[in-house]
Amino acid sequence: MLEKEIITVREEEILDIEVNKDILAANRKLAEAVKMKLDDKGVIAIDVTGSVGSGKTSIIERLVEKLRGRYRIGMIAGDVATTIDADRVERHGVRAVQVNTGRECHLDANLMEKALKKFDLENIDLLFIENVGNLICPGDYPLGAHKRVVVVSVTEGEYMVVKHPSIFKEADVAVINKVDLAGVMGTSVEKLVKDAESVNSNIRVVVTDAKKGVGLEDLVEALNL
Ligand code: MG
Ligand code: ZN
Repeated sequence: MLEKEIITVREEEILDIEVNKDILAANRKLAEAVKMKLDDKGVIAIDVTGSVGSGKTSIIERLVEKLRGRYRIGMIAGDVATTIDADRVERHGVRAVQVNTGRECHLDANLMEKALKKFDLENIDLLFIENVGNLICPGDYPLGAHKRVVVVSVTEGEYMVVKHPSIFKEADVAVINKVDLAGVMGTSVEKLVKDAESVNSNIRVVVTDAKKGVGLEDLVEALNL
């Protein structure tokens, strides 16, 4: 067999890398200011990342149902377009603010700060942020949240972790969702769990079927909520 030719892009080969470095540094600085503000107001913020269709909104809905007796909850929904997700979460009686990012494929600390102004932070203890459906750049843009969750579903196949290692390295908790469909999809849940743990030895991995609420208790515990 012929040896496979691989082109691996090095950082210095990316055309806009210098500009990018400045942006990333500015974002990190702003994220620190956001975190200080949240701490000052006693708000715990959780950034939920994952592809479109992985189940981020369903998971947030289930968490809201479980936790609304103990916390005053708010939600920020990031999407390129529509208010579908904010509407869904708002139905559970929490304040939800939609951020439509247009051409931008991630939330950043600047958008986070803007969205926070729409809340009375004195009246919130827990804030869920649903990031734009994307497993690549949200990893580079911390929002000032206290914890980051990354959601993958078995319907996306079993290579989701190994193909997106950076975001798993950045995350505190990985959720493997839609496990009820693993059999029909022929996806090994065990492989996804193992891959997440080998990319990040500190990550907590939780297996869920968010539609039915399975595994949500484990997720609450993994988030220390
Ligand atoms: Mg969603
Ligand atoms: Zn992006």
